[in-house]
Amino acid sequence: MIDSFRQRYGSADGVRVFRAPGRTNLIGEHTDYNLGFVLPVALQLATYIAIAPSSDGKLRVASEHRGEVREFDAAAIASLAPERAWTDYVIGVAREIAALGHPIPGANLLIRSTVPEGSGLSSSAALEVSTALALLGGRAIEPLELARLCQRAERNFVGMPCGIMDQYISVFGRPHAAVEIDCRSLGNRTVKLPDGITFIAVNTMVKHELSGSAYRDRVAECAAACSALGVESLRDATPAQVEAGAAKMDPVVLRRARHVVTEDDRVNRFVDASTRGDLPAMGHLMVESHRSLQHDYEVSCAELDFLVDRALAIDGVIGSRMTGGGFGGCTVTMLRPEAAPTFRAEIARVYEAEFHLAPAIYDCVPSAGAGEVQNFETIPAAV
Ligand code: ADP
Ligand code: MG
Repeated sequence: MIDSFRQRYGSADGVRVFRAPGRTNLIGEHTDYNLGFVLPVALQLATYIAIAPSSDGKLRVASEHRGEVREFDAAAIASLAPERAWTDYVIGVAREIAALGHPIPGANLLIRSTVPEGSGLSSSAALEVSTALALLGGRAIEPLELARLCQRAERNFVGMPCGIMDQYISVFGRPHAAVEIDCRSLGNRTVKLPDGITFIAVNTMVKHELSGSAYRDRVAECAAACSALGVESLRDATPAQVEAGAAKMDPVVLRRARHVVTEDDRVNRFVDASTRGDLPAMGHLMVESHRSLQHDYEVSCAELDFLVDRALAIDGVIGSRMTGGGFGGCTVTMLRPEAAPTFRAEIARVYEAEFHLAPAIYDCVPSAGAGEVQNFETIPAAV
């Protein structure tokens, strides 16, 4: 990556590299912006940003996924408007850093990522968090502040009313464990996963157009449920309360609320089951979560449903569900490690036969959260 940086910018003097991981959410979907619970793992798949000072006050950004080098005036970051382009994630973060009173340095940046884009494994948060670390250049920042700054960038500049999960897990990821996040208190606890299981993500390779607008619709529908129920967020409502308030809500809004409150409950039951090592209960909760997203929240799609249904028919599979916002992207499947080779081959075979697309398949190995890369040898090759 350093050679690639030098080729692009002529020099790599003073270069530093920062890494931020993508994630798979094991359970707790569309609950973060309702201030509930989520249980993601940070992945080995990550975004790496090499940064070195530039001498002319320009902020230059290149992504190996794009080819072009974009150039901005570092001193004028605050006056830039969104372009509806990938650079919005970078500029959005730069603006939030500037808003904290830290000047944005003139610098050259090169982005390399092994997180597939737009696949529900959170390439956007990996880009935001790695950008923030690079632009802060090692300046101390509280981890929670880092996550919140990146969330603000996505909300304020990219225009996506996202919850905190993706940025939070990219900062707080742990090797060998999942992290349960309480999206209201913003506290977390490390959840050790039982031995004898592994998680695999399967990519539908589709992202339906609906995903952005439907996400905003769901945020609005949850707000409507809150007003009907007289609560500030769905975190404050129980499943019994939602059912008791059914007559006050449009049937669609009722189903959205039902998903959120039952999903919060499922996260906590999944964590308990994980602590007991109760694999069948964990698998069952993943499938319930998927059905709720499919029928009540209506954010799944034919490709995701197919992958879940077919996964469940493969020997050694314990549970499966869509992960991320939905309308395409990935499923996450929990299975016996010894079943993994057959699972990979079989799921790829049936998916290709049905949709004429070869699904990408990723091992979900829980990894550490974001930080500076000390040993450049550990940076993966370009993809
Ligand atoms: P997800 O976060 O699930 O991958 P999003 O739609 O939230 O999907 O974010 C994907 C967007 O993030 C891309 O369309 C692109 O604008 C930006 N992005 C992510 N990674 C990169 C990268 N390596 N280079 C350039 N842009 C990126
Ligand atoms: Mg994203």
